[in-house]
This record gives sequence, C-alpha cells and structure tokens, in this order.
Amino acid sequence: MKRVYNFSAGPSALPLPVLERAAAEMLDVNGTGQSIMEVSHRSKDFVPIIENAETLLRFLMGIPSNYKVLFLQGGASLQFSMLALNLAGVEKGALQKKASYIETGVWSQKAAEEGAKYVEPIIRSSSKDRGFTYIPEAPVPDQSDAFYHITLNNTIVGTKWSKLPKTGAVPLVADVSSCILSEPLDVSQFGLIYAGAQKNLGPAGVTLVIIREDLIGGAPSWTPGMLRYDIHVKEGSMYNTPPCHGIYIIGLVLEWLNNLGGVEAAAQLNREKAELFYSYLENSKCFRSPVEKPYRSLMNIPFVPIDTDPNRRKALETRFVKEAAEAGLVNLGGHRLVGGMRASIYNAMPKAGVEALIRFMEQFEKKEG
Ligand SMILES: *Cc1c(COP(=O)(O)O)cnc(C)c1O
Repeated sequence: MKRVYNFSAGPSALPLPVLERAAAEMLDVNGTGQSIMEVSHRSKDFVPIIENAETLLRFLMGIPSNYKVLFLQGGASLQFSMLALNLAGVEKGALQKKASYIETGVWSQKAAEEGAKYVEPIIRSSSKDRGFTYIPEAPVPDQSDAFYHITLNNTIVGTKWSKLPKTGAVPLVADVSSCILSEPLDVSQFGLIYAGAQKNLGPAGVTLVIIREDLIGGAPSWTPGMLRYDIHVKEGSMYNTPPCHGIYIIGLVLEWLNNLGGVEAAAQLNREKAELFYSYLENSKCFRSPVEKPYRSLMNIPFVPIDTDPNRRKALETRFVKEAAEAGLVNLGGHRLVGGMRASIYNAMPKAGVEALIRFMEQFEKKEG
C-alpha cells in the first residue's frame, strides 16, 4: 500500500488511524452486522453515532449550551445563502435589511454575492487593494445591521484573522471551513459559525453549523423547509436523511483529536508545523510567502517563486509541482484563481510531512542553483 503526503486544500488528508478504523468497521459497525452506509438514520444504531459526534464537538470546542449544533448538507457555499436568508430574510414586499461583510478573498466575496439575494451587503472593509495579502481593519458596523460576516481563515490566499472584530450587538458570523479545530475558538463571540467538513473535520458532504439560539426562527415564511435552521434544529439534523457516513467519520476524527489532547494540543502542533515552514520560506533563495507577516494562516500556506520573470516563474512552478508529486508530496499547486503553490497543513498533516516537504524544497533549490 502506498500513502503520500497530501497537501490538498480540500478534500484533504484524514488522520491515518481514522481511515484504518473506518476500514476495519466497513462491514460491521459497532456490532450491527451492517456498514454505516446501510444503517437507517432513525435506528438505534445511528442515533448514538450522531449524538456522540455532537457531544465530542461540544466538549472539544467548549460550545456553550445556548448554541445548537447542526449537521447539514450543501457545503459552506449553501450557507452563504442560508445564513442570509435565515438571519436577515424578509417577507415578500418588505424592505430589505442590511448586513456587514468584510472582503478578504474569494470565499468572502462569494458569501456577499450569494447573501445579496436576501440582504443588502455593505462591504465595511476590504483587502483587495493588495491582492488580499492581509486582513483589513474591521470597522464597527451600523447597529441595525442584521449580522457581520467574516471568513476567519482564507483558504486560497492563506490569511487569517488573529483578533476578532468588535461588532457590538450585531451577531458576528464566520466561515470557519478551513480553520475549525485548528486553534481554540471562543464560540460565545459568534452568533453563527459554519464549516464545510472536507478540510479539517471529515469527508465532503457534511456542513457544520453552530448557531446561537436567539438567532433561530427568523426565516421568512416563504423559505424552503430544507433551508430553515429552525426546522433542522427541531428535527435534530434529521428533517431528512442526514449524511450518515460523513457524520460517522467526523465522530472518528473528533475521537482521534480528543486522544491527541484536544484543540490546545492540535494548536500547539499546528503552530510548530507552520513556524517550521514559514521560517524555511524566510530563508529560501527560491520561494517566498506572498502574505504579510501578521496575517499568515496556520492551515494554508501559499508560496511563490522569488524570480519575477513570468515565463521562468510559470516553468518553475510546473516543474516543482510535478517533481514534488513524484516524491510523494501531492497537491501542492495553488488555487486555480491565484496560481503559485500552496501547502495545506490541516490537523491531519503530521509534522513529518512538513519536514519532508522542506527537505524536498531544499534539494529542489540546490538543483535549480
Ligand atoms: C472550501 C471553502 C468553501 C467552499 O466550501 P464548499 O463546502 O465546497 O461549499 C467556503 N469557504 C471557505 C473558507 C472554504 O475554505
């Protein structure tokens, strides 16, 4: 069997012990004589699995009791619409509400674009002027704004918020798809957070939503049932068939994380891994980080050639990604919208993977002269 170091931004590497356990339980989960994919979601065999995932998540993240946890579908992308609809949607003919958005990259732009179908988005600040390589100042919102949306970690450009904006009474809403469980997060600072599972939580197909209770129930009457938080809350994420297999794998990932020592321990490791890689980049003669220092992500680390000649640059990138893959270091190409290279080093990436990447890059540099 061959396993590589997978630096993909998502779907991304899962912890090996999780995959091994899932493989061992493939034909018989918890002594049921069935695969998790064959078990009824309403049965006594599945209910403990979803309950266990929620309990572990609440414990690991310290989720306060006045927040609900939902396992939904549709990805983070559906939340762009769903959160705006539920938090700020109005009855037909009524005047649209406003909401604050901070523009820090493609995902935050998409959130505002989709949100705009249900709310008037006010872009309070943006880092577009310098190619999204930093996190801008976050102005205090108008206190009548329905919510204040940020992308906590910007997966494509590799920036992260290290200090949360002060929003007063306006609920802070955050896309945490690529940083959930990477560092401690004070959930009580947020009205709602959401994450597609396929980066740091589990497989694609599950979307996690954590919502403060007082924000539930505001969807306009014309909202489709599948898009209403109140219905999903009332039905315990089982309004319809939930993504059972994905929720099961999330449970295994959370158990693995708990055994590792929880979010604090993961954060310590993540800081070590990121520091190793950033300090390598600082000293490299061939590559550099395009991101301004105070805003660098722990999870997604883009890097670009120092050489500024566009043709030599492109050739070097192509060579790098190809030779790295041959050395068992895969998915190092940058996002198709920004180019360059990117190493995504989520919780499941061991320190040895980052060390192997650095060794490879040192040799690559020597060879390139
Ligand atoms: C990957 C990603 C998304 C898109 O997630 P889908 O689940 O594919 O819709 C949105 N926001 C961020 C920050 C992401 O990293």
